[in-house]
Amino acid sequence: MIEDNDEIAELRANLDRSSHATCEWKVDNDCVACRFQDYQRECINALNQKVLKRSEIADVMALIGVFAPFIPTSRMTNVFGKMLDHLLTSIKFPAPDIDDLAVMKAHRLNGERDEACETIRSLDRKKRIMIETLMEKLPMKSDKTISEGTFVTNYVSPLLYGTLALDDGRVQIYFPNTECQTQKQQGIKADRPDILIRIRGQEAVFGEVTGPAQAGHTAKNAWDLFRLARFGKAFLDNGNSVAPLLQVVYNNGTFMRLTIKTRGMFILEEIGAFEVPTKVAGIPALAATLPTLLAARDDVQQILDGDMNGLKRSWGYGDVRDAKKRIA
Ligand SMILES: [Zn+2]
Repeated sequence: MIEDNDEIAELRANLDRSSHATCEWKVDNDCVACRFQDYQRECINALNQKVLKRSEIADVMALIGVFAPFIPTSRMTNVFGKMLDHLLTSIKFPAPDIDDLAVMKAHRLNGERDEACETIRSLDRKKRIMIETLMEKLPMKSDKTISEGTFVTNYVSPLLYGTLALDDGRVQIYFPNTECQTQKQQGIKADRPDILIRIRGQEAVFGEVTGPAQAGHTAKNAWDLFRLARFGKAFLDNGNSVAPLLQVVYNNGTFMRLTIKTRGMFILEEIGAFEVPTKVAGIPALAATLPTLLAARDDVQQILDGDMNGLKRSWGYGDVRDAKKRIA
């Protein structure tokens, strides 16, 4: 169950701001934002009656204005019905530019690491380093006794460096365990992201990681998703139009995007999954799901190019009404 806490207090303060002036986002002549408000009301009632559950995290996210149709709850399906299907978009991935076959061959050479490295020579330098690092660090059999720290350093970090980092330092990857500066500057409760990617020095991509010990802890992982939504909102409130988000729960990686749809309403979309190999034999599964990470890399590149902050908003979403007046 959800108890009142700082986030909830924050959301209660924001609730009355979330009504929209005009119905512009329609599916079959029905306003999605109006439906979202009905849904929000149901979630607020559940909160007031102390029956809102952490396991139904989409309902909790609705309280902070985030709509996550890819993880429907019974409350959500009751309100949205068939409209939900229309809201789940299918995403086109960039073509994978990795030689799957070479990776397969490499991992078959159990223990013969030098020969394995020879077979992946055709890959570009960063992906080759990524595969070589994984072959060096990963065990032959999954070891669930490793700490979350080891998991982040040896398993997660090579994936992010191999796909998202840039050599020139404009994109930097951190595993900081320090408070989110963006949230701090905005005067809201600051959480500590497990993954932080700075683009030109600015906090831009946030990630949460769960190691093997807590992988089956559904409520913890659901709450991590809620925290990710809060990080994403803080990034959007700083004038950006898309917030890329990463969640890793042991071998399951997910790449998501948070965008602002209309006043007081954000939409969280799941872009795709990627495999975090936990043993050498898991490396080909990573190769097969690499397009997800390449999609994340494209987002990073677009933020770097300045394409993702076209809105140039310097106001928080509570002030968007005034902004709309100005635009109109
Ligand atoms: Zn409406």
